[in-house]
Amino acid sequence: MEIKELEKVQTGIFGTLSALGHEQVVFCHDEPTGLKAIIAVHNTVLGPALGGTRMWHYSSEQEALTDVLRLSRGMTFKASISGINLGGGKAVIIGDAKSMKNEAFLRRFGKFVNSLNGKYITAEDVNMNTRDMEYISMETRHVTGLPESMGGGGDPSPVTAYGVYMGMKAASKKVFGNDSLHGKRIAVQGTGQVGMHLVEYLVKENAEVFVTDLFEEKLKAIEQKFGVTAVGQDEIYDLDVDIYAPCALGATINDNTIDRLKCSIIAGAANNQLKDETRHGYMLMDRSIVYAPDFLINAGGLINVYNEYLGNYNRKRVFEQAEKIYDTCLNILNVSEKENVSSQEAAIKLAEKRIGEIGRIRMSR
Ligand code: NAD
Repeated sequence: MEIKELEKVQTGIFGTLSALGHEQVVFCHDEPTGLKAIIAVHNTVLGPALGGTRMWHYSSEQEALTDVLRLSRGMTFKASISGINLGGGKAVIIGDAKSMKNEAFLRRFGKFVNSLNGKYITAEDVNMNTRDMEYISMETRHVTGLPESMGGGGDPSPVTAYGVYMGMKAASKKVFGNDSLHGKRIAVQGTGQVGMHLVEYLVKENAEVFVTDLFEEKLKAIEQKFGVTAVGQDEIYDLDVDIYAPCALGATINDNTIDRLKCSIIAGAANNQLKDETRHGYMLMDRSIVYAPDFLINAGGLINVYNEYLGNYNRKRVFEQAEKIYDTCLNILNVSEKENVSSQEAAIKLAEKRIGEIGRIRMSR
């Protein structure tokens, strides 16, 4: 069910929290710095809730709350399906990142993170970078995604892109019988940190790549660098391609776009790609479009920060772990076919199964 619909049937915030299964939601406010943030802890059965902080100019507080609830729930499934001992959490900061972020603002946020005593661990997300994490780390040790100069794992995007690439190859194996992307027509929506690295992998494998982004200059640069074809922001949905890779924002797979898609596979980095995870998951199935679940194939970034959190960070080991996304994705797509359930549902079931099993073991200690 879509979260907006959930809000209608459940009464108030607690009704929504209960329907989605959240443990705790913290509203953070600081008048002097103008900080307004929400930290959502979805589930801590497997470990502390880790998830990045997103800063966004939300049009309403409700929109920010909906976003953080949805994203934190996704983190629970992402950690579980990746075999990681972490729970799911996320934070959003409401406001304009360009004008509002400064040392005091970020350190105040760090103090709020610290007040949760490690139940929530933060990291980067949209509009937050490693420099911001440095400021946050001045007030709390419950932060990952620090620069390499501070012993951190640095930018997680290359690992995320690698995981998405692995998921895409697994989906190709399922659909085309082999995992080569040579000659495949692939549309990449969003050429940011992850999209850029993904394009590089695809071009190396001689795929025919189409890209779109909000920024013309970015597109021109990427066209020149990789010899790919730039298309319009809306045109991307109508392209006759084999694979659509959403690497911008969520909810791009919806009632308006599904009928336009001509691809056989959807595999991308964006979180919450399905606007309604149940209905749109099945609509894709009806149209024989294989969907590589987002929280499974974009877990590379989480794998990266998890390794940083464990200590003795080793980049090679991180990529080896991200490579396993291939096998998990292929397994999920096989289960989806065998049990005639959407791939999203199959992936959630697997994630919930591990939480249930490990939760029971922890309770018995
Ligand atoms: P980013 O901000 O660097 O890149 C996003 C790009 O998408 C930007 O270039 C932006 O201009 C473009 N964009 C936004 N709206 C668009 C639209 N309507 N049409 C076309 N382009 C549009 O972000 P990123 O780090 O590359 O992450 C991309 C997505 O993957 C996000 O949804 C993020 O939450 C998710 N993700 C990222 C990571 C990571 O490691 N960075 C990990 C997991 C998930």
